[in-house]
Amino acid sequence: YCSNEPNSLVSDACVSYATLEEINTEVRPAIQFLTHNVDFFTYYRLDLYGRECPFWSDDAGFCANRACAVELADEKDIPESWRSSELGKLEGPKASQPSPEVKKEEPSPFKGTLGEDTAESCVFEPQEGDKRDYCVAEDEGNGSNCVYVSLVDNPERFTGYAGTSANNVWKAVYQENCFNTQAQTEKQSSNQPFGGAFGRGIPADPNAAANLKNVMDRRKHEVVQKNLISPPPEEQCLEKRVFYRVLSGMHASISMHLCHDFFNQTTGQWGPNLQCYKDRLHNFPDRIQNMYFNYAILLRAVAKLRKNLNHYTFCAGDKRTNEFTRKKLSALTDSIASHPSVFDESVMFRDENSIVLKEDFRNRFRNVSRLMDCVGCDKCRLWGKLQTSGYGTAMKILFEYDENEENGKNPVLRRTELVALINTLGRLSNSLYAFTRFGAMIERERVIE
Ligand code: FAD
Repeated sequence: YCSNEPNSLVSDACVSYATLEEINTEVRPAIQFLTHNVDFFTYYRLDLYGRECPFWSDDAGFCANRACAVELADEKDIPESWRSSELGKLEGPKASQPSPEVKKEEPSPFKGTLGEDTAESCVFEPQEGDKRDYCVAEDEGNGSNCVYVSLVDNPERFTGYAGTSANNVWKAVYQENCFNTQAQTEKQSSNQPFGGAFGRGIPADPNAAANLKNVMDRRKHEVVQKNLISPPPEEQCLEKRVFYRVLSGMHASISMHLCHDFFNQTTGQWGPNLQCYKDRLHNFPDRIQNMYFNYAILLRAVAKLRKNLNHYTFCAGDKRTNEFTRKKLSALTDSIASHPSVFDESVMFRDENSIVLKEDFRNRFRNVSRLMDCVGCDKCRLWGKLQTSGYGTAMKILFEYDENEENGKNPVLRRTELVALINTLGRLSNSLYAFTRFGAMIERERVIE
Protein backbone atom coordinates (compact mmCIF):
# COMPACT_ATOMS: atom_id res chain seq x y z
CA TYR A 1 0.00 0.00 0.00
CA CYS A 2 1.27 3.39 -0.84
CA SER A 3 1.45 6.52 1.21
CA ASN A 4 2.23 9.99 -0.02
CA GLU A 5 4.39 11.15 2.85
CA PRO A 6 7.05 13.44 1.36
CA ASN A 7 9.98 11.12 1.94
CA SER A 8 8.34 7.88 0.97
CA LEU A 9 9.18 6.49 -2.41
CA VAL A 10 6.86 6.44 -5.37
CA SER A 11 6.42 2.72 -6.07
CA ASP A 12 8.11 1.47 -9.24
CA ALA A 13 10.08 4.71 -9.61
CA CYS A 14 13.31 5.31 -7.74
CA VAL A 15 12.36 8.68 -6.31
CA SER A 16 10.48 10.27 -3.41
CA TYR A 17 7.55 12.65 -3.58
CA ALA A 18 9.69 15.38 -2.06
CA THR A 19 12.37 15.04 -4.76
CA LEU A 20 9.80 15.21 -7.55
CA GLU A 21 8.33 18.32 -5.96
CA GLU A 22 11.77 19.92 -5.74
CA ILE A 23 12.44 19.16 -9.37
CA ASN A 24 9.03 20.54 -10.27
CA THR A 25 9.69 23.81 -8.48
CA GLU A 26 12.89 24.16 -10.47
CA VAL A 27 11.70 23.15 -13.94
CA ARG A 28 8.14 24.46 -13.85
CA PRO A 29 8.99 27.99 -15.10
CA ALA A 30 10.74 26.51 -18.16
CA ILE A 31 7.82 24.19 -18.88
CA GLN A 32 5.34 27.04 -18.42
CA PHE A 33 7.33 29.20 -20.80
CA LEU A 34 7.41 26.53 -23.50
CA THR A 35 3.72 25.64 -23.20
CA HIS A 36 2.49 29.24 -23.03
CA ASN A 37 4.92 31.34 -25.02
CA VAL A 38 6.55 29.24 -27.71
CA ASP A 39 4.33 28.81 -30.79
CA PHE A 40 5.84 25.43 -31.62
CA PHE A 41 4.38 24.04 -28.38
CA THR A 42 1.19 26.05 -28.10
CA TYR A 43 -0.41 24.89 -31.37
CA TYR A 44 -1.48 21.28 -31.70
CA ARG A 45 -2.56 19.61 -34.92
CA LEU A 46 -5.06 16.78 -34.61
CA ASP A 47 -8.05 15.05 -36.11
CA LEU A 48 -10.58 16.31 -33.59
CA TYR A 49 -13.89 15.71 -35.34
CA GLY A 50 -13.20 13.38 -38.25
CA ARG A 51 -13.02 10.01 -36.55
CA GLU A 52 -15.96 8.07 -35.24
CA CYS A 53 -15.63 6.09 -32.06
CA PRO A 54 -14.40 2.78 -33.51
CA PHE A 55 -15.81 0.74 -30.64
CA TRP A 56 -19.43 1.75 -30.06
CA SER A 57 -21.94 4.34 -31.18
CA ASP A 58 -22.82 6.81 -28.51
CA ASP A 59 -24.66 9.81 -29.92
CA ALA A 60 -26.38 10.30 -26.56
CA GLY A 61 -22.98 11.00 -24.96
CA PHE A 62 -22.42 14.19 -26.95
CA CYS A 63 -21.71 17.20 -24.72
CA ALA A 64 -23.38 20.40 -25.88
CA ASN A 65 -22.16 22.62 -23.00
CA ARG A 66 -20.37 25.76 -24.05
CA ALA A 67 -17.42 24.68 -21.91
CA CYS A 68 -17.05 21.54 -24.03
CA ALA A 69 -16.50 23.50 -27.25
CA VAL A 70 -13.07 24.02 -28.80
CA GLU A 71 -12.03 27.23 -30.51
CA LEU A 72 -10.07 26.38 -33.65
CA ALA A 73 -6.99 28.28 -34.76
CA ASP A 74 -6.94 29.95 -38.14
CA GLU A 75 -4.38 28.40 -40.53
CA LYS A 76 -3.18 31.87 -41.47
CA ASP A 77 -2.01 32.41 -37.88
CA ILE A 78 0.37 29.48 -37.91
CA PRO A 79 3.82 29.25 -39.55
CA GLU A 80 3.70 28.60 -43.26
CA SER A 81 5.67 25.37 -43.01
CA TRP A 82 2.88 23.75 -40.97
CA ARG A 83 0.08 24.52 -43.41
CA SER A 84 -1.61 21.73 -45.32
CA SER A 85 -0.27 22.98 -48.65
CA GLU A 86 3.34 22.78 -47.42
CA LEU A 87 2.92 19.53 -45.54
CA GLY A 88 1.65 17.91 -48.73
CA LYS A 89 5.08 18.32 -50.26
CA LEU A 90 6.69 15.99 -47.77
CA GLU A 91 7.17 12.29 -48.10
CA GLY A 92 6.52 11.60 -44.46
CA PRO A 93 8.30 9.04 -42.30
CA LYS A 94 8.96 6.71 -45.25
CA ALA A 95 11.74 9.12 -46.13
CA SER A 96 14.43 7.89 -43.83
CA GLN A 97 15.59 10.38 -41.25
CA PRO A 98 18.95 11.49 -42.56
CA SER A 99 21.74 11.83 -40.06
CA PRO A 100 23.53 15.18 -40.06
CA GLU A 101 26.52 13.76 -41.93
CA VAL A 102 24.50 11.79 -44.47
CA LYS A 103 22.37 14.85 -45.17
CA LYS A 104 25.27 16.54 -46.94
CA GLU A 105 25.96 13.67 -49.32
CA GLU A 106 22.55 12.28 -50.19
CA PRO A 107 19.93 13.93 -52.37
CA SER A 108 17.19 15.63 -50.42
CA PRO A 109 14.46 13.19 -49.40
CA PHE A 110 11.79 15.86 -49.90
CA LYS A 111 9.52 15.93 -52.92
CA GLY A 112 8.93 19.66 -53.08
CA THR A 113 10.95 22.79 -52.70
CA LEU A 114 10.84 23.16 -48.98
CA GLY A 115 13.02 25.25 -46.81
CA GLU A 116 15.73 23.40 -44.95
CA ASP A 117 13.81 23.93 -41.74
CA THR A 118 11.08 21.49 -42.66
CA ALA A 119 11.48 17.74 -42.40
CA GLU A 120 9.51 14.57 -41.99
CA SER A 121 9.20 15.19 -38.28
CA CYS A 122 6.73 17.95 -39.21
CA VAL A 123 4.27 15.69 -40.94
CA PHE A 124 2.75 12.29 -40.89
CA GLU A 125 1.03 10.51 -43.76
CA PRO A 126 -1.80 7.99 -43.43
CA GLN A 127 -0.91 4.32 -43.05
CA GLU A 128 2.70 5.18 -42.42
CA GLY A 129 2.73 4.50 -38.71
CA ASP A 130 5.99 3.28 -37.28
CA LYS A 131 5.52 -0.11 -35.68
CA ARG A 132 7.37 1.30 -32.70
CA ASP A 133 4.55 3.83 -32.09
CA TYR A 134 2.49 3.51 -28.92
CA CYS A 135 -0.37 5.63 -30.23
CA VAL A 136 -2.35 6.02 -33.41
CA ALA A 137 -1.06 9.13 -35.15
CA GLU A 138 -3.10 12.24 -34.64
CA ASP A 139 -1.95 14.36 -37.56
CA GLU A 140 -2.53 12.27 -40.61
CA GLY A 141 -1.00 14.14 -43.51
CA ASN A 142 -2.42 16.82 -45.74
CA GLY A 143 -5.77 15.51 -46.97
CA SER A 144 -7.26 14.60 -43.62
CA ASN A 145 -9.64 16.32 -41.25
CA CYS A 146 -6.91 17.80 -39.15
CA VAL A 147 -7.36 21.12 -37.42
CA TYR A 148 -4.99 23.39 -35.52
CA VAL A 149 -5.86 24.27 -31.98
CA SER A 150 -4.26 26.77 -29.66
CA LEU A 151 -3.75 24.95 -26.37
CA VAL A 152 -3.48 28.26 -24.55
CA ASP A 153 -6.89 29.40 -25.80
CA ASN A 154 -8.52 26.07 -24.90
CA PRO A 155 -7.32 25.22 -21.39
CA GLU A 156 -8.07 21.87 -19.84
CA ARG A 157 -10.64 22.58 -17.10
CA PHE A 158 -14.06 21.66 -15.81
CA THR A 159 -16.53 21.18 -18.67
CA GLY A 160 -19.44 19.37 -17.04
CA TYR A 161 -18.91 16.28 -19.22
CA ALA A 162 -19.95 13.33 -17.04
CA GLY A 163 -22.43 10.46 -16.79
CA THR A 164 -22.62 7.23 -18.75
CA SER A 165 -20.57 8.40 -21.72
CA ALA A 166 -17.57 9.54 -19.64
CA ASN A 167 -17.88 6.54 -17.39
CA ASN A 168 -17.90 4.09 -20.29
CA VAL A 169 -14.75 5.60 -21.76
CA TRP A 170 -12.92 5.33 -18.44
CA LYS A 171 -14.09 1.77 -17.94
CA ALA A 172 -12.97 0.78 -21.42
CA VAL A 173 -9.62 2.48 -20.80
CA TYR A 174 -9.05 0.40 -17.66
CA GLN A 175 -10.29 -2.71 -19.42
CA GLU A 176 -7.18 -2.45 -21.59
CA ASN A 177 -5.27 -3.22 -18.43
CA CYS A 178 -6.76 -6.71 -18.07
CA PHE A 179 -3.79 -8.43 -19.66
CA ASN A 180 -4.81 -11.94 -18.64
CA THR A 181 -8.39 -11.65 -19.89
CA GLN A 182 -7.08 -10.24 -23.12
CA ALA A 183 -4.55 -13.02 -23.63
CA GLN A 184 -7.35 -15.56 -23.33
CA THR A 185 -9.63 -13.64 -25.67
CA GLU A 186 -6.85 -13.33 -28.21
CA LYS A 187 -6.19 -17.03 -28.09
CA GLN A 188 -9.86 -17.84 -28.61
CA SER A 189 -10.21 -15.46 -31.52
CA SER A 190 -6.85 -15.91 -33.20
CA ASN A 191 -8.60 -17.13 -36.38
CA GLN A 192 -10.30 -13.79 -36.84
CA PRO A 193 -9.07 -11.71 -39.77
CA PHE A 194 -7.56 -9.07 -37.52
CA GLY A 195 -5.79 -11.63 -35.36
CA GLY A 196 -7.23 -10.97 -31.93
CA ALA A 197 -10.07 -9.38 -30.07
CA PHE A 198 -8.94 -5.82 -30.49
CA GLY A 199 -5.27 -5.90 -29.88
CA ARG A 200 -4.12 -5.54 -33.48
CA GLY A 201 -5.68 -2.33 -34.57
CA ILE A 202 -8.64 -1.27 -36.62
CA PRO A 203 -8.87 -3.60 -39.62
CA ALA A 204 -9.29 -2.28 -43.15
CA ASP A 205 -11.86 -4.95 -44.04
CA PRO A 206 -15.38 -3.66 -43.15
CA ASN A 207 -16.58 -7.14 -42.04
CA ALA A 208 -13.64 -7.41 -39.74
CA ALA A 209 -14.42 -3.92 -38.50
CA ALA A 210 -18.00 -5.01 -37.75
CA ASN A 211 -16.69 -8.07 -35.89
CA LEU A 212 -14.36 -5.87 -33.92
CA LYS A 213 -17.21 -3.55 -33.00
CA ASN A 214 -19.28 -6.53 -31.81
CA VAL A 215 -16.43 -7.80 -29.70
CA MET A 216 -15.96 -4.32 -28.24
CA ASP A 217 -19.67 -3.92 -27.55
CA ARG A 218 -19.67 -7.28 -25.80
CA ARG A 219 -16.60 -6.35 -23.80
CA LYS A 220 -17.99 -2.97 -22.91
CA HIS A 221 -21.07 -4.74 -21.61
CA GLU A 222 -18.89 -7.08 -19.57
CA VAL A 223 -16.98 -4.11 -18.19
CA VAL A 224 -20.17 -2.40 -17.14
CA GLN A 225 -21.48 -5.63 -15.64
CA LYS A 226 -18.41 -6.51 -13.64
CA ASN A 227 -17.19 -2.98 -12.91
CA LEU A 228 -13.65 -3.98 -13.71
CA ILE A 229 -12.02 -0.77 -12.57
CA SER A 230 -9.57 -2.15 -10.07
CA PRO A 231 -5.83 -1.86 -9.76
CA PRO A 232 -3.71 -4.86 -10.69
CA PRO A 233 -2.49 -6.98 -7.79
CA GLU A 234 0.94 -5.93 -6.56
CA GLU A 235 2.42 -9.32 -7.49
CA GLN A 236 1.70 -8.64 -11.15
CA CYS A 237 4.81 -8.01 -13.22
CA LEU A 238 6.32 -4.54 -13.34
CA GLU A 239 5.28 -3.85 -16.94
CA LYS A 240 1.60 -4.50 -16.22
CA ARG A 241 1.71 -2.40 -13.09
CA VAL A 242 3.32 0.41 -15.06
CA PHE A 243 0.57 0.20 -17.67
CA TYR A 244 -2.09 0.60 -15.00
CA ARG A 245 -0.23 3.38 -13.22
CA VAL A 246 0.03 5.40 -16.42
CA LEU A 247 -3.73 5.18 -17.04
CA SER A 248 -4.69 5.89 -13.46
CA GLY A 249 -2.14 8.72 -13.19
CA MET A 250 -3.51 10.31 -16.36
CA HIS A 251 -7.06 10.02 -14.97
CA ALA A 252 -5.93 11.55 -11.66
CA SER A 253 -4.23 14.43 -13.45
CA ILE A 254 -7.38 15.15 -15.50
CA SER A 255 -9.47 15.08 -12.30
CA MET A 256 -6.95 17.40 -10.63
CA HIS A 257 -7.32 19.94 -13.43
CA LEU A 258 -11.06 19.89 -13.55
CA CYS A 259 -11.20 20.37 -9.76
CA HIS A 260 -8.53 23.06 -9.79
CA ASP A 261 -10.09 25.02 -12.63
CA PHE A 262 -13.75 24.53 -11.75
CA PHE A 263 -16.67 26.71 -12.72
CA ASN A 264 -18.51 28.07 -9.70
CA GLN A 265 -22.08 28.58 -10.87
CA THR A 266 -22.91 30.84 -7.94
CA THR A 267 -20.11 33.36 -8.45
CA GLY A 268 -19.58 32.80 -12.18
CA GLN A 269 -15.84 32.47 -11.47
CA TRP A 270 -13.29 29.78 -12.33
CA GLY A 271 -11.19 28.46 -9.47
CA PRO A 272 -10.28 25.53 -7.20
CA ASN A 273 -13.12 23.40 -5.84
CA LEU A 274 -11.93 21.73 -2.65
CA GLN A 275 -14.89 19.38 -2.34
CA CYS A 276 -14.30 18.11 -5.88
CA TYR A 277 -10.67 17.40 -4.94
CA LYS A 278 -11.67 15.63 -1.72
CA ASP A 279 -14.20 13.43 -3.49
CA ARG A 280 -11.97 12.39 -6.36
CA LEU A 281 -8.40 12.49 -5.10
CA HIS A 282 -7.71 13.31 -1.49
CA ASN A 283 -9.05 10.02 -0.18
CA PHE A 284 -7.28 8.00 -2.88
CA PRO A 285 -3.51 8.18 -2.22
CA ASP A 286 -2.90 5.53 -4.86
CA ARG A 287 -4.27 7.89 -7.53
CA ILE A 288 -1.98 10.67 -6.33
CA GLN A 289 0.92 8.25 -6.29
CA ASN A 290 0.19 7.26 -9.90
CA MET A 291 0.15 10.91 -10.91
CA TYR A 292 3.61 11.39 -9.37
CA PHE A 293 4.74 8.21 -11.06
CA ASN A 294 3.67 9.65 -14.41
CA TYR A 295 5.56 12.84 -13.69
CA ALA A 296 8.68 10.73 -13.06
CA ILE A 297 8.40 8.84 -16.34
CA LEU A 298 7.70 11.99 -18.33
CA LEU A 299 10.72 13.70 -16.78
CA ARG A 300 12.89 10.76 -17.70
CA ALA A 301 11.57 10.65 -21.28
CA VAL A 302 12.19 14.36 -21.82
CA ALA A 303 15.67 14.14 -20.29
CA LYS A 304 16.44 11.25 -22.64
CA LEU A 305 15.87 13.50 -25.65
CA ARG A 306 18.64 15.85 -24.62
CA LYS A 307 21.42 14.72 -26.95
CA ASN A 308 19.09 14.23 -29.90
CA LEU A 309 17.75 17.77 -29.87
CA ASN A 310 20.80 19.14 -31.64
CA HIS A 311 19.73 17.34 -34.81
CA TYR A 312 16.02 17.84 -34.52
CA THR A 313 14.25 19.82 -37.26
CA PHE A 314 11.81 22.07 -35.47
CA CYS A 315 9.79 23.32 -38.43
CA ALA A 316 8.86 26.33 -36.34
CA GLY A 317 8.86 28.73 -39.28
CA ASP A 318 12.26 30.32 -39.77
CA LYS A 319 15.83 29.71 -38.66
CA ARG A 320 15.76 32.17 -35.79
CA THR A 321 12.54 30.78 -34.39
CA ASN A 322 13.85 27.24 -34.79
CA GLU A 323 16.98 28.06 -32.85
CA PHE A 324 15.00 29.88 -30.17
CA THR A 325 12.72 26.83 -29.78
CA ARG A 326 15.71 24.49 -29.62
CA LYS A 327 17.42 26.68 -27.04
CA LYS A 328 14.38 26.88 -24.78
CA LEU A 329 13.71 23.14 -24.98
CA SER A 330 17.38 22.36 -24.39
CA ALA A 331 17.32 24.55 -21.29
CA LEU A 332 14.51 22.36 -19.96
CA THR A 333 16.16 19.03 -20.84
CA ASP A 334 19.48 20.23 -19.34
CA SER A 335 17.77 21.29 -16.17
CA ILE A 336 15.99 17.92 -15.80
CA ALA A 337 19.17 16.03 -16.64
CA SER A 338 21.11 17.90 -13.96
CA HIS A 339 19.21 15.76 -11.42
CA PRO A 340 19.82 12.05 -10.90
CA SER A 341 17.53 9.99 -13.13
CA VAL A 342 14.09 9.45 -11.58
CA PHE A 343 13.03 6.39 -13.54
CA ASP A 344 14.96 3.40 -14.79
CA GLU A 345 13.31 2.04 -17.92
CA SER A 346 16.12 -0.47 -18.47
CA VAL A 347 14.57 -2.80 -15.88
CA MET A 348 11.48 -3.21 -18.04
CA PHE A 349 10.94 -5.71 -20.86
CA ARG A 350 14.00 -7.72 -19.94
CA ASP A 351 12.90 -11.30 -19.52
CA GLU A 352 12.40 -13.95 -22.20
CA ASN A 353 8.74 -13.05 -22.89
CA SER A 354 9.47 -9.41 -23.26
CA ILE A 355 9.05 -9.14 -27.04
CA VAL A 356 5.49 -10.45 -26.86
CA LEU A 357 4.74 -8.50 -23.72
CA LYS A 358 6.02 -5.28 -25.24
CA GLU A 359 3.94 -5.74 -28.37
CA ASP A 360 0.89 -6.40 -26.22
CA PHE A 361 1.67 -3.34 -24.12
CA ARG A 362 2.05 -1.20 -27.24
CA ASN A 363 -1.16 -2.48 -28.85
CA ARG A 364 -3.11 -1.92 -25.69
CA PHE A 365 -1.87 1.61 -25.43
CA ARG A 366 -2.80 2.24 -29.06
CA ASN A 367 -6.32 1.10 -28.20
CA VAL A 368 -6.42 3.57 -25.34
CA SER A 369 -5.51 6.31 -27.80
CA ARG A 370 -8.31 5.14 -30.15
CA LEU A 371 -10.76 5.26 -27.27
CA MET A 372 -10.29 9.02 -27.13
CA ASP A 373 -12.48 9.24 -30.24
CA CYS A 374 -15.32 7.97 -28.02
CA VAL A 375 -15.12 11.00 -25.70
CA GLY A 376 -18.30 13.04 -26.24
CA CYS A 377 -16.92 16.45 -25.24
CA ASP A 378 -14.67 18.25 -27.75
CA LYS A 379 -12.46 19.95 -25.16
CA CYS A 380 -12.04 16.71 -23.17
CA ARG A 381 -11.33 14.82 -26.40
CA LEU A 382 -8.67 17.36 -27.36
CA TRP A 383 -6.84 17.00 -24.03
CA GLY A 384 -7.50 13.27 -23.84
CA LYS A 385 -5.92 12.83 -27.28
CA LEU A 386 -3.03 15.10 -26.47
CA GLN A 387 -2.25 13.35 -23.19
CA THR A 388 -2.52 9.80 -24.54
CA SER A 389 -0.23 10.90 -27.33
CA GLY A 390 2.13 12.46 -24.75
CA TYR A 391 2.32 9.23 -22.76
CA GLY A 392 2.63 7.18 -25.96
CA THR A 393 5.52 9.39 -27.04
CA ALA A 394 7.15 9.05 -23.63
CA MET A 395 6.96 5.25 -23.92
CA LYS A 396 8.34 5.35 -27.45
CA ILE A 397 11.30 7.32 -26.13
CA LEU A 398 11.73 5.17 -23.02
CA PHE A 399 11.47 1.79 -24.72
CA GLU A 400 12.54 2.39 -28.35
CA TYR A 401 15.07 5.19 -28.15
CA ASP A 402 18.79 5.05 -27.63
CA GLU A 403 19.80 8.33 -26.04
CA ASN A 404 23.36 8.03 -27.32
CA GLU A 405 22.36 7.28 -30.89
CA GLU A 406 23.10 10.24 -33.12
CA ASN A 407 23.02 8.64 -36.55
CA GLY A 408 19.34 8.83 -37.26
CA LYS A 409 18.47 5.27 -36.23
CA ASN A 410 16.03 6.30 -33.54
CA PRO A 411 12.37 6.40 -34.54
CA VAL A 412 11.25 9.71 -35.99
CA LEU A 413 9.62 12.00 -33.48
CA ARG A 414 6.88 13.93 -35.23
CA ARG A 415 6.12 17.51 -34.32
CA THR A 416 2.76 16.57 -32.81
CA GLU A 417 4.43 13.92 -30.65
CA LEU A 418 6.93 16.39 -29.27
CA VAL A 419 4.20 18.97 -28.67
CA ALA A 420 2.08 16.34 -26.90
CA LEU A 421 5.03 15.17 -24.82
CA ILE A 422 5.95 18.61 -23.51
CA ASN A 423 2.34 19.64 -22.89
CA THR A 424 1.66 16.39 -21.03
CA LEU A 425 4.68 17.10 -18.88
CA GLY A 426 3.17 20.57 -18.40
CA ARG A 427 -0.17 19.07 -17.34
CA LEU A 428 1.55 16.89 -14.73
CA SER A 429 3.68 19.75 -13.50
CA ASN A 430 0.48 21.70 -13.01
CA SER A 431 -1.16 18.78 -11.24
CA LEU A 432 1.69 18.61 -8.72
CA TYR A 433 1.31 22.33 -8.15
CA ALA A 434 -2.49 21.99 -7.72
CA PHE A 435 -1.97 19.09 -5.31
CA THR A 436 0.21 21.31 -3.08
CA ARG A 437 -2.38 24.08 -3.24
CA PHE A 438 -5.22 21.77 -2.28
CA GLY A 439 -3.04 20.38 0.54
CA ALA A 440 -2.59 23.92 1.91
CA MET A 441 -6.36 24.53 1.69
CA ILE A 442 -7.06 21.37 3.65
CA GLU A 443 -4.49 22.35 6.25
CA ARG A 444 -6.08 25.79 6.60
CA GLU A 445 -9.48 24.17 7.02
CA ARG A 446 -8.06 21.91 9.76
CA VAL A 447 -6.52 24.84 11.63
CA ILE A 448 -9.78 26.82 11.51
CA GLU A 449 -11.70 23.82 12.88
P1 FAD B 1 -14.79 9.50 -13.12
O1 FAD B 1 -13.64 10.44 -13.08
O2 FAD B 1 -15.57 9.41 -14.40
O3 FAD B 1 -14.23 8.06 -12.74
C1 FAD B 1 -15.00 6.87 -12.96
C2 FAD B 1 -14.54 5.81 -11.96
O4 FAD B 1 -13.16 5.53 -12.21
C3 FAD B 1 -14.59 6.25 -10.51
O5 FAD B 1 -15.85 6.01 -9.96
C4 FAD B 1 -13.51 5.41 -9.88
O6 FAD B 1 -14.00 4.11 -9.58
C5 FAD B 1 -12.48 5.26 -10.97
N1 FAD B 1 -11.39 6.23 -10.87
C6 FAD B 1 -11.46 7.58 -10.79
N2 FAD B 1 -10.25 8.13 -10.82
C7 FAD B 1 -9.37 7.11 -10.89
C8 FAD B 1 -7.96 7.05 -10.95
N3 FAD B 1 -7.21 8.14 -10.96
N4 FAD B 1 -7.39 5.82 -11.00
C9 FAD B 1 -8.14 4.70 -11.00
N5 FAD B 1 -9.48 4.70 -10.98
C10 FAD B 1 -10.09 5.89 -10.92
N6 FAD B 1 -14.29 16.46 -17.49
C11 FAD B 1 -14.02 17.79 -17.38
O7 FAD B 1 -14.73 18.51 -16.69
N7 FAD B 1 -12.93 18.33 -18.02
C12 FAD B 1 -12.09 17.58 -18.78
O8 FAD B 1 -11.12 18.10 -19.37
C13 FAD B 1 -12.36 16.18 -18.91
N8 FAD B 1 -11.58 15.40 -19.67
C14 FAD B 1 -11.90 14.08 -19.82
C15 FAD B 1 -11.10 13.27 -20.64
C16 FAD B 1 -11.43 11.93 -20.82
C17 FAD B 1 -10.54 11.10 -21.71
C18 FAD B 1 -12.59 11.39 -20.21
C19 FAD B 1 -12.98 9.96 -20.45
C20 FAD B 1 -13.38 12.18 -19.39
C21 FAD B 1 -13.04 13.51 -19.19
N9 FAD B 1 -13.80 14.33 -18.35
C22 FAD B 1 -13.51 15.66 -18.23
C23 FAD B 1 -14.86 13.76 -17.51
C24 FAD B 1 -14.28 13.39 -16.11
O9 FAD B 1 -13.05 12.70 -16.23
C25 FAD B 1 -15.23 12.49 -15.31
O10 FAD B 1 -15.54 11.35 -16.05
C26 FAD B 1 -16.51 13.19 -14.92
O11 FAD B 1 -16.23 14.39 -14.23
C27 FAD B 1 -17.39 12.30 -14.01
O12 FAD B 1 -16.65 11.97 -12.85
P2 FAD B 1 -17.01 10.79 -11.89
O13 FAD B 1 -17.05 11.33 -10.51
O14 FAD B 1 -18.22 10.07 -12.37
O15 FAD B 1 -15.76 9.80 -11.93
